[in-house]
Amino acid sequence: MTYIPNYVFEGEPAIGETMQVAPGIHWLRMPLPFKLDHINLWLLEDGDEWVIVDTGICTDDCKAAWETLFQGTMGGRPVNRVVVTHFHPDHAGLAGWLTERFNVPLIMPLTEWTFGRMLSLDGQEVSLDVYKKFYHRAGFTPELMDTVTRRMGGYKKAVSTIPAALQRIEDGSEIIIGGKSWRMIVGRGHSPEHACLYCDEADVLISGDQVLPKISPNVSVWPQEPDGQPLQLYIQSIEHLRQQIPGDPLILPSHNWPFKGLHARLDDLDAHHVERLDDTVEALFEPSTGVEVLYRLFKRELDEHQTFFAIGETLAHLHQLVMDGRAVRSVRDDGVYIFTLT
Ligand SMILES: [Zn+2]
Repeated sequence: MTYIPNYVFEGEPAIGETMQVAPGIHWLRMPLPFKLDHINLWLLEDGDEWVIVDTGICTDDCKAAWETLFQGTMGGRPVNRVVVTHFHPDHAGLAGWLTERFNVPLIMPLTEWTFGRMLSLDGQEVSLDVYKKFYHRAGFTPELMDTVTRRMGGYKKAVSTIPAALQRIEDGSEIIIGGKSWRMIVGRGHSPEHACLYCDEADVLISGDQVLPKISPNVSVWPQEPDGQPLQLYIQSIEHLRQQIPGDPLILPSHNWPFKGLHARLDDLDAHHVERLDDTVEALFEPSTGVEVLYRLFKRELDEHQTFFAIGETLAHLHQLVMDGRAVRSVRDDGVYIFTLT
């Protein structure tokens, strides 16, 4: 059965405006320069001050939207903290810009901060060989390989700075905002140590990218951890959320619209990956490279940005099949990995 999200609100806030979704909790949208063209961020009232949750990507459009908010809805009231769910540029892109502007701390999981800080400082010459080796093993053609070089340093361009210091949060950490306790629930698989923020009293879950209503969160193998098993981590994180949140909170996701029905969505995401693993088995009707499997799984046209997510996701499913004993990986003479059903 196809999952249909149970959206709670009609419409959405315009860029530079906000919509209150629960007492003291405000929804705002920022533009993204991708096919997925927006991200949702959250403003939490903390007495007469604000706590910002996620920041938007570092573009002039996002900065302009913030300026409108500072003058408008935020009414000149100060920001006292910036919380970032994970290191991805649409979430952490303006962390430096915002924390410097208000001279406030960044609150973030340590691994997410470390990863973002590392990518924002990493020199291209240090990592290019590692990236090229990874995508060569995945079966990239010389033409595709050119895009690897072109995309190097992309993270740096999409973030202002990742601040040099942070206040760490981890699974089970509680922070008080507006007199209410928000508990962090860590999710893995989409990013190393993604923070979801749950307020039992308000019955609200800020789910970041870990649980989305419409698209399934990207779960990818990346060059930094070429033998990673992100799908296993993601499935475990679904179970962790199930156990941590027995009820039916309002879910505030980073993309699309706020919704209800957490457990139905978690079940659906589980089922989606079981199905996707079966599709991957079907696509392995003969020994194949990662790229060959990618083109059988993703039949639609993919732009350059999407191709990188698609190969990462394909490898995540292939690695899971290997872990489950349904496939094996071998190395061809040219160094490319070949996956074969057992
Ligand atoms: Zn993300």
